[in-house]
Amino acid sequence: MQTIIEPFRIKSVEPIWFTTKEQRISTLEKAFYNPFLIHADDVLIDLLTDSGTSAMSSNQWAGVMKGDESYAGSPSYYTFKKAVQDITHMPEVIPTHQGRAAEKILFSILGGKGKYFVSNTLFDTTRANIEFSGAEGIDLLCDEGKHPSIPAPFKGNMDIDALKKVIAEKGAANIPLCILTITNNSGGGQPVSMKNIREVKQVCKENNIPLFIDACRFAENSYFIKLREEGYAIKSVREIANEIFSYADGCTMSAKKDAFANIGGFLAMNDKELATKCRNLLIITEGFPTYGGLAGRDLEAIAIGLNEVMDEHYLQYRIRSIEYLTNKLVDAGVPVMQPAGGHAVYIDAKEFLPHIPVKQYPGQALVGALYTEGGIRSVEIGSLMFGKYDDNKKLIPAHMELVRLAIPRRVYTQSHIDYVAEVIIEVFNNRYNIKGLSIIEEASMLRHFTVKLKPVTE
Ligand SMILES: *Cc1c(COP(=O)(O)O)cnc(C)c1O
Repeated sequence: MQTIIEPFRIKSVEPIWFTTKEQRISTLEKAFYNPFLIHADDVLIDLLTDSGTSAMSSNQWAGVMKGDESYAGSPSYYTFKKAVQDITHMPEVIPTHQGRAAEKILFSILGGKGKYFVSNTLFDTTRANIEFSGAEGIDLLCDEGKHPSIPAPFKGNMDIDALKKVIAEKGAANIPLCILTITNNSGGGQPVSMKNIREVKQVCKENNIPLFIDACRFAENSYFIKLREEGYAIKSVREIANEIFSYADGCTMSAKKDAFANIGGFLAMNDKELATKCRNLLIITEGFPTYGGLAGRDLEAIAIGLNEVMDEHYLQYRIRSIEYLTNKLVDAGVPVMQPAGGHAVYIDAKEFLPHIPVKQYPGQALVGALYTEGGIRSVEIGSLMFGKYDDNKKLIPAHMELVRLAIPRRVYTQSHIDYVAEVIIEVFNNRYNIKGLSIIEEASMLRHFTVKLKPVTE
């Protein structure tokens, strides 16, 4: 087979700043071992997130120039609305400045004490917005999804039996929404199958619970369905996306992911009454309903990005580059989540660093080591991000201790990825020198963004 090449050429470049290992050791110490506190100029390859870090196309930049900044009724809003509707077929389209703004509005209206939101896995901002409203979020990930090293085609699926059980226990009336996150970001960027979406919808329908899609990576999920699910090879990605959304009553989206935009998001739904309530809140917090929290130019860029992302040459390159890095690591014996997800490679830090106990945050320790060794910035998705404390201030760990290397869209080339693999393998070969971490300072919610840590000294 021929090499799958980057399906673009480069018209404008940004320099990467090089640092020495000594400089990085000092930078990491000054950043309290938290990658979010590092100055981005001190990062060589930035795999902190795939959010808002995409390279926009020349077409999107042309759209930026075309953007109309009318306060009300901007033509850019109608272009945006049409792009969203061509994918979702949902009548109500509400622009927001990010995905979490859409979540904040939705859960302020539907949440509250005594309410439960069920999901395959809630992303951290989604869970935080649910909990901030006083409600509870419940993750019901399928069994395969909980074992990083065991391959399965759709590890993002929801556990249908668990869903039925939770509905029976909590009562359908106390569950305002069921949310499917596609692909499952916190669970390894793993896709959800069409069969699972259909089955979840069936259970929701029987219980009168609306189904919402957290659609941040709808195109990557659709492409996995095309590749892996029987009967979908002949369908276009747009047809597959249309089918996914046909089972949903609404969706939230961060345009910073599968819309190649640097900012933006939206809320879309079928229910007109709910949409009116959302728009009333939108006006207080984001802006007038035809721009939300965005400039007209952003709406244009998102509309173009939503169409570009469904290009199958792009998706083939996208999915292949994640798989390429995953395979290189697997060949070197590095424990990674398998099979490869859609937007990131996930290292199993518990297995990578068996000498570091979970309460010393092995994921965060590995994040630090990748930075000092090669200037690579990654993020912990484990007990630092999701851990809770019991009444005795003892850590209740997360399901898994993962380190995520998120690949920005259309930004890095194959040699960048080769370099990343070399650094990880070097760190793996010297892994027993890595020490655990302890927390000096933390916030009560989303603590991983601002937490300060120090190395554990025996
Ligand atoms: C990024 C993300 C969000 C939040 O979107 P923002 O634009 O960062 O606010 C919600 N859900 C998932 C699955 C995400 O990946």
